[in-house]
Amino acid sequence: MRVIVTGGGGYIGSIAVERLVKAGHNVTVIDNFARGHPASVHPSATIVECDLRHGAATSTAVRCAQADAVMHFAALTLVPESVREPGAYFETNTGGGLHLLEAARKAGITRFVLSSTASVYGEPESLPIHEDAPKRPINPYGQSKWMTEQMLSTYADRYGINHAIFRYFNVAGATKDRGEDHDPETHLIPVALKTLLDGSGQFTIFGTDYDTEDGTAVRDYVHVIDLVDAHIAAIEQLDQPLGAMNLGTASGFSVQQIVDAVERVTGQSLPITYGPRREGDPAALIADSSKARETFEWSPGNSTLDQMIGSAWEWFQANPRGYKD
Ligand code: UDP
Repeated sequence: MRVIVTGGGGYIGSIAVERLVKAGHNVTVIDNFARGHPASVHPSATIVECDLRHGAATSTAVRCAQADAVMHFAALTLVPESVREPGAYFETNTGGGLHLLEAARKAGITRFVLSSTASVYGEPESLPIHEDAPKRPINPYGQSKWMTEQMLSTYADRYGINHAIFRYFNVAGATKDRGEDHDPETHLIPVALKTLLDGSGQFTIFGTDYDTEDGTAVRDYVHVIDLVDAHIAAIEQLDQPLGAMNLGTASGFSVQQIVDAVERVTGQSLPITYGPRREGDPAALIADSSKARETFEWSPGNSTLDQMIGSAWEWFQANPRGYKD
């Protein structure tokens, strides 16, 4: 299949490209490389440098790719940044999403996979979270993605664009050649590993007074390879609409448990300080991912803490300067 991957220079997008190429697909990456890295793009993919905030350029890029399917990863994804700069999130995620949908519609593309987030649920009423749970995002990142989901559903109904929406919980891990290289890095596992690698500075646990077993926030972590493989299964099944699906393991780990696992896997101890909660962070997010499991016979078999932290640690040790090397 010919597949457009937006954000193919980013962490998840670049690994999606790697796995798509391995599965025999023909890939065009659309990325503005504001945060992604050209060096992370698999050499077999065609690169089109294009910013989704520009509608006309996006339409041209999509039309020229002559694609059968779109995987849309390109987005701003940091909760604290979205609280500080909501407009940037609405412009890139929601506005960019609209431009891409219009471009896909005009190009006659009927398979569309959207990368979304558990942040659309906000503070859930019960765990694990089912796809039908109320959507009440508590930060602009979640709002921007929820609006994009709604636009996609409307386009799907109106124009017959078969869609799959994946709501990610927390994604971690690396392949041998590709991993996380964000600037600044804010995600729990890479921040902890980089603190160890740098050998200087403190690692801060944000919030110790959550209503959880040990007082730190609980998240559901899935290996990036498992996550991406659900997307590849989806494009192959999108001769009919699939709707929204959670991607997680249905088990939660607290920040403290992750920190303990990082120390165990690396054999090093983290210099830990305890700080206040980070704005916009819910207490606990755990996925009910039975729909994805049933739809694709999906099973997140790589998503143990040891595999996620171990593969990320190997990648950081091999690439201490990320893609700058
Ligand atoms: N976190 C932390 N210290 C850090 C980075 C993250 O305590 O240096 C916490 C964060 O407050 C949240 C959890 O780890 O409760 C997961 O955060 P992350 O940014 O990795 O993902 P998010 O859940 O925000 O998408």
